[in-house]
Amino acid sequence: MKLQTDAETVTAQARWPELEESERRVLLELLLHRPQPRIRLAESLGLSRTSLTRIARRLLGLGLIVQDDVSEPNGRGRPSETLRLRGEAAHFLGIKVVGDGLVVSLTDLEGNVVGGWSEQLRSRGVDEVVAQIAEAARHPKSVSLSPVAVGIAIAGDVETRNKRAILRDSGFLGWDEVPLADLVVEATGLPTVVANDVDVLTAAHHWFGGRPLRDPLVVIAVGAGIGSGIIVNSALVEGRHGRSGRVGHLRLGGEGRTCNNGHADCIHAYVTIPAIEHNAGVGTGEYETALARARDGEERALEAFRRAAFALGAAVAESINSIDPERLALMGEGLAMLDLAAGEFERGLKDSLERVSLSEPLLERPPFDFGLYSRGAAITAERQLLSSRVARRDNRGDVVAVKGDQANPMPPTARDGSRP
Ligand SMILES: [Zn+2]
Repeated sequence: MKLQTDAETVTAQARWPELEESERRVLLELLLHRPQPRIRLAESLGLSRTSLTRIARRLLGLGLIVQDDVSEPNGRGRPSETLRLRGEAAHFLGIKVVGDGLVVSLTDLEGNVVGGWSEQLRSRGVDEVVAQIAEAARHPKSVSLSPVAVGIAIAGDVETRNKRAILRDSGFLGWDEVPLADLVVEATGLPTVVANDVDVLTAAHHWFGGRPLRDPLVVIAVGAGIGSGIIVNSALVEGRHGRSGRVGHLRLGGEGRTCNNGHADCIHAYVTIPAIEHNAGVGTGEYETALARARDGEERALEAFRRAAFALGAAVAESINSIDPERLALMGEGLAMLDLAAGEFERGLKDSLERVSLSEPLLERPPFDFGLYSRGAAITAERQLLSSRVARRDNRGDVVAVKGDQANPMPPTARDGSRP
């Protein structure tokens, strides 16, 4: 079968060594906290200097890290060599599946984006999309970098069942019960992680959206839907069924418009892009028209955005009430209501907050573009590869299940959310 042959070619080019857990922990620490003096790295990970010397020697030998000879003296006045990831040592392929296309990013070992593109989906069928993902892995840009793992960000619930990641209820794609990671492993030969798109965005914002890595962090993403990702103790809260953070079904009252789950007048019925299109009286896919009309002051369109802003305020309040986060970031392509009706957002927030104190948490609206999802997907693949939680093919060619029951192992420094 041609696909298999090509996949094996990719596998043969991609070389990711078998690593011991302690070696993976060192790489993960360097990914999360960037270059570190040996002394600090040993302290952070609770390793003896001797152990770290042994681990560093192996990782240096494999070319996965480099040592910078010149660095500041440590507290005892001696120079301490700094270790960092060697970015070009390995690459990762991240793909965000949207309703009509794929957004692809290639990242290096340090998480930097080194390439990418967007393409239209030829079909929404599972087999066709998997085939198109496999083609992305064989794209000349991918082949030139030989990614060692694939990360896929997609709407829907990623539930771990019998140690397999099953995609459920993917909304706009209409997929349910799809073992997407296994299918992509079969088609590409590469270790693969499938994750909910909002969770991926949340993780990417946590790691790279500003320092230090403080949590609890909530990211609320608004676009075709609304969802939130939650980081507590430096780990993503996945929930029993991959369904944590589903804000947005609180009922606000109104005219009886129902969401997809049949709730009358819940947050979803106002805040999402399809809801705004409906409420503004434009056709499906005409969000830009609704936006232009609202900016021109057309009352119906403006009212749709005011209600969306109020509903978003209520969703944010719901998260603050339940999580009490240090930071809460609003992201996604559907946040124009914040510009058009900031006052309504504040009103919706204050209406539902248990305590109206806006000094905490810090509300953020970081710069957003679609590439964040695919970059986040690639980095999620890297992080899970370093945590052995990735579906992959073993030496005999069988797909090995994800170790989904295992808690996300985190270095001690990250656990308290602060740098040493
Ligand atoms: Zn609802």
